[in-house]
Amino acid sequence: MPFIQEAISSGKVTGDGPFTRKCELFFEKRYGWGKTLLTSSGTDALEMAAILTDPGPGDEVIVPSYTFVSSANAFALRGATIVLADSEESTPNMDMAHVRQLITSRTRVIVVMHYGGIACDMDKIMELATAHDLWVVEDAALALDGYYKDKPLGSFGHVAAFSFHGTKNIQCGEGGMLVINDPKLIARAEVIREKGTNRKDLLRGLSSFYEWVDIGSSYLPSEVTAAFLWAQLLEFDRIQEMRVRLWNKYREELAGTDDLALPELADYARHNGSIFFVKLIRKSGDITAKKKSLAAKGVLVEKHYYPLHLSKFGSQNCRLYGVYANVDEWSNSLLRLPLFVELAENEHNKIIMALKEGL
Ligand SMILES: *Cc1c(COP(=O)(O)O)cnc(C)c1O
Repeated sequence: MPFIQEAISSGKVTGDGPFTRKCELFFEKRYGWGKTLLTSSGTDALEMAAILTDPGPGDEVIVPSYTFVSSANAFALRGATIVLADSEESTPNMDMAHVRQLITSRTRVIVVMHYGGIACDMDKIMELATAHDLWVVEDAALALDGYYKDKPLGSFGHVAAFSFHGTKNIQCGEGGMLVINDPKLIARAEVIREKGTNRKDLLRGLSSFYEWVDIGSSYLPSEVTAAFLWAQLLEFDRIQEMRVRLWNKYREELAGTDDLALPELADYARHNGSIFFVKLIRKSGDITAKKKSLAAKGVLVEKHYYPLHLSKFGSQNCRLYGVYANVDEWSNSLLRLPLFVELAENEHNKIIMALKEGL
């Protein structure tokens, strides 16, 4: 029986049922993670991370400016001050030299985001965090199956947030997961996901009723969503193999193309085929003109994040320090190329040719 039908006919479509547990176990086994909790989105997993690390008004949270809004919003919701960090020149990831300058006595949390599943330098980040007694939250929404040295991304921060949004490698429409690497946070995380109740104790037979024990919200996906995700997980290796192959072919075939810089992979980073991006080198001119000329050849390319430090809310509510030259540069010159499992080889070749032909 198809999984979604099975979930429905089981009569229990609410959350934390067999499919939810199967998905969580899949990740715990595959990556050696101690505890994972499925959530209804990556944003929800980040909100849980913010409640668990608990920065409040007056506390500061360092977040990259070049990221999706949820990396910052989850902590802004707690009343914390968001302090924005620049990117590296060589990758869109956060620049550690800038992060060092941003740390104050009020800093509580560093949020790292691995752009395109390409690892940030986690040894450096964890060393810095340990020296200043800071929490580290990995926004690993794009980083499933990416590696730093020989360890999967999501294994480094005290907690890590993943997304199974329809745009990610592995998806269920809307969905996410919190990975909890600090065992002291597990019990509270289970309460927070269950609307601030100890319902989990009731399910485990440790309590005869359940009650309000903490703050929390409704972060649990339904079994229908988990059943969808389970079907994806059975294809995990095939999906990843296809994506990584497309990514690698782009990088090989586009090497040496005039006016394009290709993603840099540090020795420690193994990518996950989530986003293939190029950087337009300035002399090739306006990114809009480039997008148009590619569109005329039937190739749709997209920019990515609008920097948080320039955004309507971020520019007024976040703390800025120094210049964000690299974020501005990435935002103006990064283009994402089509990459999805159904991408046929002749289409892939056509895109590569169009880019090689230049403007
Ligand atoms: C997709 C994404 C999110 C949000 O995930 P949702 O599941 O859509 O809530 C957060 N951060 C980053 C970096 C993302 O790419």
